[in-house]
Parts: sequence; C-alpha cells; structure tokens
Amino acid sequence: MKVLVINAGSSSLKYQLYNMTDESVLASGRVERIGMDSSIVTHEPTGKPEVRDVSEILDHVTAVKRVIDMLTHDEHGVISSMDEIDAVGHRIVHGGEVFKNSVLVTAEVKNEIKRLFDLAPLHNPAHMMGITAVDNNLPNVPQAVVFDTAFHQTMPASSYLYPIPKVLYRRHKIRRYGFHGTSHAYVSDVAASYLKKPLNELKMVTCHIGNGASVTAILDGKSYDTSMGMTPLEGLMMGTRSGDIDPAIVPFVMGKEELTLSEVNSMLNKHSGMMAISGVSSDMREVIDAMNEGDENAKLAFDMYVYRVRKYIGAYAAAMNGIDTLIFTAGVGENSSVLREAVCKGITFLGIELDDEKNAIRSKEAREISTAASRVKVLVVPTNEELLIARDTFELVQNASK
Ligand code: AMP
Repeated sequence: MKVLVINAGSSSLKYQLYNMTDESVLASGRVERIGMDSSIVTHEPTGKPEVRDVSEILDHVTAVKRVIDMLTHDEHGVISSMDEIDAVGHRIVHGGEVFKNSVLVTAEVKNEIKRLFDLAPLHNPAHMMGITAVDNNLPNVPQAVVFDTAFHQTMPASSYLYPIPKVLYRRHKIRRYGFHGTSHAYVSDVAASYLKKPLNELKMVTCHIGNGASVTAILDGKSYDTSMGMTPLEGLMMGTRSGDIDPAIVPFVMGKEELTLSEVNSMLNKHSGMMAISGVSSDMREVIDAMNEGDENAKLAFDMYVYRVRKYIGAYAAAMNGIDTLIFTAGVGENSSVLREAVCKGITFLGIELDDEKNAIRSKEAREISTAASRVKVLVVPTNEELLIARDTFELVQNASK
C-alpha cells in the first residue's frame, strides 16, 4: 500500500509518498507560494535528482494536482499512475477535545475540523483546503487526519485546566491542548523500543526543541502534562515566541505602548524569544555562533533558553514523582550537542550523567548519550512525524477494509 502524507499550510504544501511495505519514502517535496505569482514546486524522488519547477499555482487544488503530476511523471515520477496512491494522511494542528485519535475523513469529521477553526485560525483552515484539494483530485481515495493535539488528550484535568473562571472552559473550551503530539508520541515509542522496555513502565520527559519547542511528561506511555497550552505560545522560550510570561504583562504593555490586541499577539509570537533577547537571530545555530564569538546578548538568550528547558524537566520530574528517560528531538534537540550538554549538566541531581563523547556523535539514528552509570537514560531520537501519520493512515484504512 502507498500512502501520501500531506501537510497543508496557507500558502504551502509539503508531501511524502510512503511505500508501507517497508515504510520507505518514495518521494518527498513541497509546493511554496501557493496563490502568489511564481509558485515553486520542489520534488525529491528517492534515488533520482531533485526537480524544481516554477509556475503559477493559484490554489491548493492545483497544488495537489501538480504533486500528482510530479509523482507520476515519466522521468522524475515514482509511480506509474495516480491509482497507485491508496490513501492520503493529513497533518492537522488542532483536534480540540473531539479528536483523541487519528480518524478517517468523513463529512462529520470535516464539520468538526471546521468547528475548530476558532482555536487554530492560522492552521486548521489551511489543512481543510488540503483535504478538499485531495477530494477534488483523488475522489475515491480514503483520507485520514492525524492531530498534533490528540496524543495530549490523556492529560488529567489537573494538568489541562487553567485556574480561571470555569465558565470560560465550558463556553469557549479554554484549556491546555498541547502540540507536537505526533512527535512526542513517535519519539517515546522509539525510545521504549531502543531501551527494550514497555512504554507503559517508563517515566519519560520528551523535549521537542526546534523552532517551536515543547516538553512533555509521559507517564505510563501517556501524555501527563505538556508545556504548550491552548495555543503553541505557552511554555518554553522559542525562536520568536516568548513562551511563559506573566499574563498581566499583556494588558500592561497594551496600555503603556498603546498596542492593539493583534499587535501584542504579533509581538509575543513573532518578535520575542531568542530573536528578541539575542538581537542576532531566532535560529539556534546563529545564536550559538554569536555566543562563541563573544556576543553577550546571544549568551544571555542561550542561557535563558537552557534555563527554561531545565525548569520544565525538573517540574515534570516532580509531577511524575521521578524520571527515568530524557529524550531530545527536533532541529535543536537532535543536532546541538552544546544545548544538550548545557541542559543536562545543570540537572545532575536528577540522576542524569551525560557521556561527553556519545553526546558529540552526530547520527540520524536513535542513540543513548548518557553514561552507563547514569540513573536516567538520556537519548537523542530523530523525530519523524510524517512516518507516524503514514502509519496511522495505513492502519485506519486497513482496519476499515476488514
Ligand atoms: P526544526 O523547527 O525542528 O526544523 O528546528 C529548527 C532549529 O534547529 C533552528 O533553530 C536551527 O538553528 C536548529 N538547528 C539545526 N541544526 C542545529 C545545530 N547543529 N546546532 C544548533 N541548532 C541547530
């Protein structure tokens, strides 16, 4: 069975085609600048040269058509006809409280996703355009949706409720949802296999540290708490997002600086975090480079970033009454030995002992970076959200045909 995984944004669409027999990627790529002049399709067929095509792609329906053209192309295609695509899996950012698992797309599922537009106005409408575009191009192919929030639906109310008037939860569903769920779920699963231990016997903290960043406490294999909240703004300091701040700063700044709601929202999401403190970049590599060259603001940004990761790990160790596995993943977590060292060296009291040599190794495989004596196993696990989406889609379609 071949599964096409789609991650549709408002002006972009990323894709991967999987052969589920061996879970290999047949091709991947992205369409950028949808709806603008000169849209770009970058197609990477496995084992063949990359192809780049610039043309006008006015909407997502045309974007999916272009993807199918690429996949079935005489030279750089990887399948002979679109009939070989057996199922499509979509990444959906917000599943609210309705979706606790991945599901096959039905009319009712589409309506629910639309009802959730309010909670993820930047993401869910774009995902919906992706689903409609597949409906148009591949009308008989089953589709599944995999939610970033679903993994966190196991959190207890004591983790997900905010201490504000309860009527706001009842009326508007204001609560912690958490994000990056597909990634936290994937790496925890890989880590358990790596350690040869049942997932439900481990107390894990998973650190998904990329441009966006979140930490999750995983108890008995289930999300117990996570640092992102009702939106992906809460929690860790990020590239351009503030993460946790005193909520009273919002009305205070609005008054003092005469900012509108939309301006303060933009300040916290796009002009804060590492970018704001370092004044150098939102990109961790550039911040570390500047720090190494003696830039004090970059050092302060790095120190604040690390400090906040440590605080969350400590908090979640306390929340679960212990920790036995610590996992780093995503762009920074997988690639920056400097960040991992700075985080781990400050929390040795938890029983974390980093092996410097292992920490310095770069690899695309899951690996342990703690010493043999370390009570807490520290692992680096490359995330693969697309593979988990492909697996869920494959399983749902197979079960439906039984
Ligand atoms: P992601 O959002 O998961 O793609 O991660 C993007 C982030 O990973 C950016 O801030 C990059 O600077 C960071 N990153 C990638 N490679 C490295 C590296 N070798 N050292 C530090 N940060 C890195």
